[in-house]
Amino acid sequence: MEQRETDEDVRAYTMHPKFNMLHYHLYFASDIRTYTHTHTHTPRSSRRKLYAHVVDSILLYGAPIWSTAAQKRAYIRQAESAHRRACLRVIGGRPHVSYEATYVLAGIPPLALLADERARLYSRRREDAKDEERLATLSKWQEAWDRSTKARWTHRLIPNIRTWIERRHGELNYHLTQLLTGHGFFKHHSQRYDHKQSAQCPVCPTSNENAEHVFYHCPRFSGERERLHALLHEVMTPESTTRLMLASEPNWLAVASFAHSVVTGLRDEGTDRRG
Ligand SMILES: [Zn+2]
Repeated sequence: MEQRETDEDVRAYTMHPKFNMLHYHLYFASDIRTYTHTHTHTPRSSRRKLYAHVVDSILLYGAPIWSTAAQKRAYIRQAESAHRRACLRVIGGRPHVSYEATYVLAGIPPLALLADERARLYSRRREDAKDEERLATLSKWQEAWDRSTKARWTHRLIPNIRTWIERRHGELNYHLTQLLTGHGFFKHHSQRYDHKQSAQCPVCPTSNENAEHVFYHCPRFSGERERLHALLHEVMTPESTTRLMLASEPNWLAVASFAHSVVTGLRDEGTDRRG
């Protein structure tokens, strides 16, 4: 009931003669947050899906009526940055995280794929079409994810989109997103924006300080890592990370708390170095 009213609200909003992308941006900045927060009785992962649903409804309400490919491309270009900002908010990510990684982590297909799906559904109008077309979207998304040259660290951790987005537990936050994207307080990462900086780990002369080094190897965090491995009953490698996280909610929380310690440790060191 509540869900249907909200759909209607969204539709009424987007059908308004004064609807344009600027209003859409403003709407996103304020109301969506309130909207998702008023559904506090639903688990957070469902709220994320609800959120994605609202994103789809707003951005794609006109999808089936785009008559040319050029028209569609122009719209997607315009709407994509807003869509991506919404996805970044879901994962607690920073603006420089790549589009590819943002969509996979948020579990929301790229806008262009969603638009194609909407158009296919419009031409079919059958009850069972929805699941079938979503599967087709997922397989196209997976192909693009495997082919891309971007976000390869995230791809190494999350090779399979479907097992990741169909999980039944697990909320992302700022610290986990640093582990999963490799974007954060790592010297290797900061160096990309400031070439005068060294990427070398301050305690390991032969290693670059990147996400793999910091989370999986650097002796500065061996205490935290041992506690994590004891909780998981095995050693976590990049290749086993998401399998372990998806295996159970306590596992997920153990990895989240490990990521929290490492990221705050690095942040405090950075503050010391600068101060
Ligand atoms: Zn090190």
